[in-house]
Amino acid sequence: MSSKLFFLAIAALHPYEAVEPHMGTLFSIKLYAGDEKSAKQAFQAAFARIAQLDETLSDYKAESELTRVTLSSRAALSGDLFTVLSKGQWLSAQTDGAFDVTLGPLTHLWRQARRAHQLPSAEVLQEALSRSGFRKMHMDGQSVRFDVSGMQLDVGGIAKGYAADEALAVLSKLGIKSALVVASGDLAFSDAPPGEEGWKVAIEALDRPLLLTNAAVSTSGSAEQNFVVNGVRYSHIIDPKTGLGLTTSVTTTVIAPHGIDADGMATAINVLGLERGLAFIEKQSGVAAAFLIDQERRVVFSNRWPVAARSTSTPATDRLRRSERRP
Ligand code: ADP
Ligand code: MG
Repeated sequence: MSSKLFFLAIAALHPYEAVEPHMGTLFSIKLYAGDEKSAKQAFQAAFARIAQLDETLSDYKAESELTRVTLSSRAALSGDLFTVLSKGQWLSAQTDGAFDVTLGPLTHLWRQARRAHQLPSAEVLQEALSRSGFRKMHMDGQSVRFDVSGMQLDVGGIAKGYAADEALAVLSKLGIKSALVVASGDLAFSDAPPGEEGWKVAIEALDRPLLLTNAAVSTSGSAEQNFVVNGVRYSHIIDPKTGLGLTTSVTTTVIAPHGIDADGMATAINVLGLERGLAFIEKQSGVAAAFLIDQERRVVFSNRWPVAARSTSTPATDRLRRSERRP
């Protein structure tokens, strides 16, 4: 009797999907619910949470909390901004500043440079660098303090992953246990779709899909956002050492328990590059990464990358996979 009831409960769930623009991209949510009315309520609540996070974390909006705190030398933080900035500072410390949420002055210059098709002058770059750097930002208690004035925050490398986590949390509170949130390269998902083993995630650069539950997957790289000056391609991911967009061409994918980690780490290891990036990933529990070296079309997987999802199509991949395996 109870197993029959269980079967009926599963059979009664239907898939629903909705898409809305937030954070400069499209957020798409897929979920399983008993009926259309509860699905609609769930979408509304999840998108409202994402919209609220956009209001808090946007560096485009003059009124966002993120913009406001940089205007004062010391400010108390909401729980959301505190969570995101703390994670950012943790990642900076772990990556020797490869990931840095204080790169605002430089990401603003990058946007100008892309519009003008011209790099900033050395003086302008230097001035922007003097107003950035994670060591000039201090978190204590629930507040943040800046050493120099004119600093600008940019949490674009981590915010979408956090928003995806928070959307899933809202859905879970409403009783929706099986859902997927996608925001361009950032995905987060809860329990598997009814009757299935997991969410099947296909990553463009890799030829074998992932099958995952209660996890997140993020991809970072210059494929979508970049500009070319004098034949050099500059990624929208900034090298904090130079202040300019990265000129290396690597696509990085990270699997982690939460979107905030997958998103931040995918950006961080894009800056770190293959060797240092792999070393960082292997130290994180429950985290795996794949590096696609674009020019060579070769893929390198970290040890925890699911074996069934490793590509086998290129000989280079095969060779690396063998040498990568340690006793
Ligand atoms: P996307 O936002 O395109 O999905 P990412 O998650 O990799 O890709 O984030 C890139 C964004 O992160 C940039 O647009 C910029 O706002 C910010 N950013 C750029 N360089 C860095 C960096 N070194 N550390 C942290 N954030 C960065
Ligand atoms: Mg990221």
